[in-house]
Amino acid sequence: MTLKFLDLPGLHRDLRAELLGEIADVIDTGQFVLGPKVDTFEQNFAAYCGSTHAIGFNNGTSALHLALLAAGIGPGGEVITTPMTFVATVSAILYTGATPVFADIDPVSYTLDPTKLEALVTPNTRAILPVHLYGQMAQMPAILEVARRHDLRVIEDAAQAHGAQHAGRAAGAWGDLACFSFYPGKNLGACGEAGAATTRDAALARTLRQLRDWGQDGKYNHVRQGFNARMEGIQGAVLNVKLRHLPRWTEARRRVAAIYAERLSDLPDVVLPREAPDSRHVYHIYAIQVADRNALQRRLLEAGVPTAVHYPQPVHQLACYRGQAFAEGHYPVAEALARRELSLPMCPTMSDEQAHFVCDAVAAALG
Ligand SMILES: *Cc1c(COP(=O)(O)O)cnc(C)c1O
Repeated sequence: MTLKFLDLPGLHRDLRAELLGEIADVIDTGQFVLGPKVDTFEQNFAAYCGSTHAIGFNNGTSALHLALLAAGIGPGGEVITTPMTFVATVSAILYTGATPVFADIDPVSYTLDPTKLEALVTPNTRAILPVHLYGQMAQMPAILEVARRHDLRVIEDAAQAHGAQHAGRAAGAWGDLACFSFYPGKNLGACGEAGAATTRDAALARTLRQLRDWGQDGKYNHVRQGFNARMEGIQGAVLNVKLRHLPRWTEARRRVAAIYAERLSDLPDVVLPREAPDSRHVYHIYAIQVADRNALQRRLLEAGVPTAVHYPQPVHQLACYRGQAFAEGHYPVAEALARRELSLPMCPTMSDEQAHFVCDAVAAALG
């Protein structure tokens, strides 16, 4: 059996004709940057998230960077976030001139530990930036409670969590702002780079539309310093097609996760992901923990099972930030996860047989 960690060509096979038709429309109309396909996608995606406004960007990092700027984050400000995330979360804070302040993660959900936040709030704290890591939502009710008490903005990094829910409410509908990536490997991916932010606040939405388009409020009326961070028409067209398939792809991920959970839960030395009560995990990553991650990864590869690590180092230990004041300190839960985490193959195209094949290989490798 041959198995890919993520089979992007397989995911697009059935959609090829439809995607090419939509791309041809963009070529025929010449609406290559923003335009009607992006407008439609923004409306559809806002509705999908249960939010009011969606603003399309050229990638998820721009969405984060400009959402932070729109929220008034800048030099002198502090943003509390998790060290266990993709580097972009922290880079976006630094791009604004603000300082990231790390709080360790909760050992069960792997997301920002709400009990660690209050002690980190200073007169300079402006926002909390939780990450819905691996496709599971951060503990938003508790995080919002701390934010309310201290009058802080909340910006969700939902780059890995399209369609995740807690208490029936989706990622993207909790914070003042939420940011998504449509990098091809994300649960909803473009045919290239793209991102979006969602908000229920019309003023923030308007600011974001200006920031992504050179600060313009109408042509050549530059009302603020802006950026070139617009979504391309072709990506809007592609995302409209793919958004229709996202619910069934999410179910397919959850089916693979259910097989993994059933088959691997008896293995004594493996920690499996735990879906929080009243929540819907969308399994962007199926992350297990084992004592000797590297040995398991080697054995699985020999057995034909490709795996990955998300992430080998927490952000405060990355070479690019090591030694900087904000990166000092230790976050033992995040550091332990980075040493022990292994991501099993996860893709909506996986068959039940392939999921069982992975489980057989894990059991044999640990047996
Ligand atoms: C992918 C990702 C981003 C960045 O999105 P891009 O579209 O690649 O710029 C930010 N945060 C997290 C948690 C991500 O996984």
